[in-house]
Amino acid sequence: MTASSSSNQQKGSYSIARKRMIQEQIVDRGVRDQAVLAAMQKIHRHDFVDDALKAQAYRDAPLNIGEGQTISQPYIVALMTQSLKTNKDHKVLEIGTGCGFQTSILSELAGKVYTIERIRGLGLQARKRFKDYGLRNIVMRVGDGSKGWEEAAPFDRIIVTCASPKVPERLLEQLNIGGVMVVPVSQKEGHQNLLRITKTKEGLKTENLGECHFVKLIGRHGYRQDREIKRKDSLA
Ligand code: SAH
Repeated sequence: MTASSSSNQQKGSYSIARKRMIQEQIVDRGVRDQAVLAAMQKIHRHDFVDDALKAQAYRDAPLNIGEGQTISQPYIVALMTQSLKTNKDHKVLEIGTGCGFQTSILSELAGKVYTIERIRGLGLQARKRFKDYGLRNIVMRVGDGSKGWEEAAPFDRIIVTCASPKVPERLLEQLNIGGVMVVPVSQKEGHQNLLRITKTKEGLKTENLGECHFVKLIGRHGYRQDREIKRKDSLA
């Protein structure tokens, strides 16, 4: 078998695995937004993980992306994206770029995506993926996303892909009236709830979308960096 026919065969098996993932993990669980499903089809999850994990890319699970961080479970990415209700007129802020998968999905649906990652190595790798995919409406910066992105605010939509210890006031200040934020917030005993917060003239409307499990939002308005993480970052 030639190298190219084996790689074509692999592409075919990814394509079958991706179709099954969309049907069984996403549609069957109730995510039906056609634009979200089209984006999940177009952006290939296996392009966002290391070679050693590509065969597992369409599994119903989060995967390691290095630096102690993860790429979220496909269903969670689809659910969060659908819940954000974004469109091409929107300026979106994402906190926690990670490998850039969620960012790339948003880039298909939104007008412009601003994304912040605190770990430089992950951010730079993600930026390269956006370039390779030809996604031109994404701006990535390395920094503490718990402070938001003041110079580019206000945003129409904000998505946080790491768990905040509390409802993130600082980010809400950077959300337009009529804007929507989707954010995992830690509750008692290590549980987290995925919240959708809508900002109206009258105040905030909060909906609980269910329990979830994300890595921590670490920063000035998040969790404090513990020694273990500090050590890992300095090795990066
Ligand atoms: N969006 C990713 C998930 C990434 S995991 C996906 O598509 O699967 C969450 C990311 O949030 C990690 O990469 C972590 O480093 C990052 N993070 C944690 N605290 C942060 C902060 N204060 N600012 C920016 N990124 C942060």
